[in-house]
Amino acid sequence: MNSFLKLKGADRKAFLQSKFEYYRTYNTYAVIVSCLASITYFISDCQLFGRFAWETLIPRCFILIPLTIFLIINTKCRNYRVMTVLTELIVHMIMWCTIWAIVYLPDKTHASEGFIIMQLVFLAISFAAPFELSTLSNFLIIANILISNTFNHYENLDIMLSLGLPCVIGITATNYVLCGVYHDNYTTKHQLQDSLVLDPLTRVYNRHKLPDIVKEGTFTFDYNEIVTILMTDIDFFKDVNDTYGHDKGDIVLKNVAQVIKSCTRNGDYIFRWGGEEFVIIMPGCPIKQATLVAERIRSNVEASDNGICPITISIGVAQYDQENYQNAISQADKALYTAKQSGRNKVVCYE
Ligand code: GH3
Ligand code: MG
Ligand code: MG
Repeated sequence: MNSFLKLKGADRKAFLQSKFEYYRTYNTYAVIVSCLASITYFISDCQLFGRFAWETLIPRCFILIPLTIFLIINTKCRNYRVMTVLTELIVHMIMWCTIWAIVYLPDKTHASEGFIIMQLVFLAISFAAPFELSTLSNFLIIANILISNTFNHYENLDIMLSLGLPCVIGITATNYVLCGVYHDNYTTKHQLQDSLVLDPLTRVYNRHKLPDIVKEGTFTFDYNEIVTILMTDIDFFKDVNDTYGHDKGDIVLKNVAQVIKSCTRNGDYIFRWGGEEFVIIMPGCPIKQATLVAERIRSNVEASDNGICPITISIGVAQYDQENYQNAISQADKALYTAKQSGRNKVVCYE
């Protein structure tokens, strides 16, 4: 658990964006409730003054301005970096407005209770934020208290710190555990998603992955992007199974998948299409280049040592017509058939 702190680069970004989206609605309500609750502190101001505390009315209500700005940005922006920094900022603003109101209070001893309640607000809004950001923000609570002491001169600063510091550490620890819990769920969800779209034997995609790249029969890649399709089939694979057994045949199959992976790029999609047939979808790859890749796959399979027996594969190549991906699949299949008919162990392009 808690390996979320070790995440780097794109993985870290995806995790934090997912966490933010999970808590987004909650985060919005937590900000609204916190801002409105801080305005209700005006009632305790009136109690302290023993009259209508007009002096603290503006400091208490000022928070409505940043809250309005936050809510406007919140409707347009879904970026976790922007929104979590804004959220932390607005909670600090609640604290600054409170400090501003305290300036006018006749009795400042109750500020310590106010600051403890404030820390609960920091806990409430920390779930959506990156752990490092909320931790920094939590410790800035103490900085806010110390800086404001230079002009508010709290009579009980020592009590404020001795109550406040354990609370800051406590909310940071709670947040750390909750981040770990979210990370566990996130990892499990991704493992489940992978197991739905990955073939367990060869670890390439199965057909459940297709809806991610095909909508209404056409590819969802950039409009007009050239897409080339390869279809491969192992030559005389039945003989391998008959001679060495199905288990050894599986090892041969895994080895072919491995060779295909090693010859293709990250953006290519490799599918186990049938028993020993693979389809490789290559976005942004013209047919000439794809034929060279196919030739490399063919020769590498022929040269590779799978530990069972030498094998060869045949490959059909076809270019997507921008209209129906199934046309390209059946053209690649026809080219593959031609390769088989004309002697196997070869690459044939659909003409
Ligand atoms: P060809 O050169 O014409 O392709 O001959 P072939 O013997 O390879 O014929 P075909 O492509 O029809 O062979 C399919 C064989 O693949 C049949 C089946 O025994 C084998 N096969 C399919 N799925 C698996 C699998 O998951 N594991 C193993 N070991 N064999 C499989
Ligand atoms: Mg076959
Ligand atoms: Mg075959």
